[in-house]
Amino acid sequence: MPHNERKQLLLQEWQAFADRHRGVISKLLNPKKLSQKRNEKTDLRLADPNFDIPEIFKAIEEQIRFLTGDNSHHWRVSYDWLIENDLNFVKILERKYLSGDDIRKIIEKRAKKQQDLKDAEIRKLKSGRYRKNLCTECGSDDIDKSERENTVFDGKNIIKITEITIYCHNCSERRYFKKK
Ligand SMILES: [Zn+2]
Repeated sequence: MPHNERKQLLLQEWQAFADRHRGVISKLLNPKKLSQKRNEKTDLRLADPNFDIPEIFKAIEEQIRFLTGDNSHHWRVSYDWLIENDLNFVKILERKYLSGDDIRKIIEKRAKKQQDLKDAEIRKLKSGRYRKNLCTECGSDDIDKSERENTVFDGKNIIKITEITIYCHNCSERRYFKKK
């Protein structure tokens, strides 16, 4: 992304962030016409390959409690602090300002995401769409799967089916599926 577009993105992200935390985080008064000092420092930070704008704002939200004043000095993050030097944004990226509650939130979010993924995989498996092989009981991928073509008589016609056997080494669940 060209330098000027990244600058636009940074300023937009900051304004949106300040909007989300209105009254706590200061908005830039004139983002279209930055003061000389702000402009220079912004350019310096944008020249740093580690200054990953989406990642910085993601990290800020993860550490939002501390960064919006939940600390012993009631200190709050500001745009000028973020671009002040080549260290402050790195501390943000390193999640130096995580509080206990933030950490718990992240862990819960991760666990929920993993559970959602697992549920989705299980739904796929149960609905007969075998994109990834997972145990339908425990979600483990430590399974053996065998498929066998067979023909059966359904009362009217002889039809071809695929018999699938799944054995889970994790919970010993064994399942049979028939696919037409
Ligand atoms: Zn299992």
